[in-house]
Amino acid sequence: MVRVGIYTRISRDDDANALGVRRQERLCRQYAADRGWRVAGVYCDNDVSASSYAHVRRPAFERLVAHVRTQRFERVVVLAQDRLVRRPEQLEEILRLLSSVGGSAVECVLGGPLDAASATGRIHARVKVVFDAAYADFISERVSLKKRELADRGLPPGGGARPFGYRRGGLIVVPAEASLIQEAAARVVAGEALYAICADWTRRGIRSAQGFGWRGGVLRKVLEAPRIVGLREYRGEIVGPAAWPAILDDQTYANVRAMFGDMTRRHGGRPAVSTHLLSGTARCARCGRTLYSNVIRGVRYYVCRSVPTRGGCGRLGIQARPVEDHVVETLFSMLRVTDGDGVQDGLTDIRHRLDSDRQALEALALRRYVQRDLTPREHEAARAALLARIEAAERHCAVREREARDPITELQHWATLDSESKRAFLREHIASLIIHPAVRGRSHVDLNRVELLLGP
Ligand SMILES: [Zn+2]
Repeated sequence: MVRVGIYTRISRDDDANALGVRRQERLCRQYAADRGWRVAGVYCDNDVSASSYAHVRRPAFERLVAHVRTQRFERVVVLAQDRLVRRPEQLEEILRLLSSVGGSAVECVLGGPLDAASATGRIHARVKVVFDAAYADFISERVSLKKRELADRGLPPGGGARPFGYRRGGLIVVPAEASLIQEAAARVVAGEALYAICADWTRRGIRSAQGFGWRGGVLRKVLEAPRIVGLREYRGEIVGPAAWPAILDDQTYANVRAMFGDMTRRHGGRPAVSTHLLSGTARCARCGRTLYSNVIRGVRYYVCRSVPTRGGCGRLGIQARPVEDHVVETLFSMLRVTDGDGVQDGLTDIRHRLDSDRQALEALALRRYVQRDLTPREHEAARAALLARIEAAERHCAVREREARDPITELQHWATLDSESKRAFLREHIASLIIHPAVRGRSHVDLNRVELLLGP
């Protein structure tokens, strides 16, 4: 009895008329039964494309190929050739495979068999695959043209999940959700942590568009999407105004983005305030409380916030960037003065010895294997001694270098550090940082207001 393997596949980029995998399988089984063949296995790739657009693996296809190789069955049954291969190069592979196992053939319910054994069969298959590839190209082109056209007209992409703040379809605002978005934006700009907002929303029974609880990352995506200021995005780029109304005004949106911009990716939904360089370090000269980061009209400030539970006079603020730059620069120059090159000097000696030991090791090998004036035992003894010394020196260097990293090298790497490491470094080296009240008439950014005391 002839044994067959059935292969079915459907992909997202198939056109709407493509049959689902269940119906493909049913038709293939019928085809086999009509001929008295026994089905030895069904291989199904659901939602996997065979065209070159999707560079996904086809796990079932790979299993099928392996089983063709081991001749678990004599024939493969597919609905049509394009279920199996959709690209000329894939067809050539299949043809090679089929001729290598000899006798195995592919039966197509529609469009005749894929006959690898005869020249006519191969020509037939090759012509067919060219048309199939062209058809796939055509569909893909049509889909991306359609997407591009929707984007250009500022219309929603269609399909996909409902965006929070808008009704399904994405064109009509849901007023209750819109005011929640405005609330969240205001709280973020005021320095509140995303997770705190999410926790509050969860307490209030507020659900995401898909009915889930809130997480920082999800809320951040909502607040960052250009959609909520009425802009249409396409492939990560803003292509123009959208056909739907905005939920946030441009300024608030810019403030939110500025706030997020200062958060590290690593800390995803963690509070924006704690990732600012000097919040928690800088203090208010009026009341002694630590300052918070705040964004006002797109500019970051450190401000004294008057929070009932924490005190705080709420009467002081200073632009964040100039203060941060000033503190880092001061730290830089101070550390450079206090730590000379002493550390490096100590290492130079060791490095010299290390070099000469390494050369000696080479010379030793030459004597043993080229000049041959050392016995294996003499060679081994000398070699062991040298290796031990080299290893000890290397360890010593590594330790000294690690010491040297702090603080000089550390500061050279300042720009490459993530904000958590920067903050840790600042905490280590700043004894106190006090911001004094503004003096009337002085420039907006008056660094005389910054009182920095270095030290542990
Ligand atoms: Zn204060």
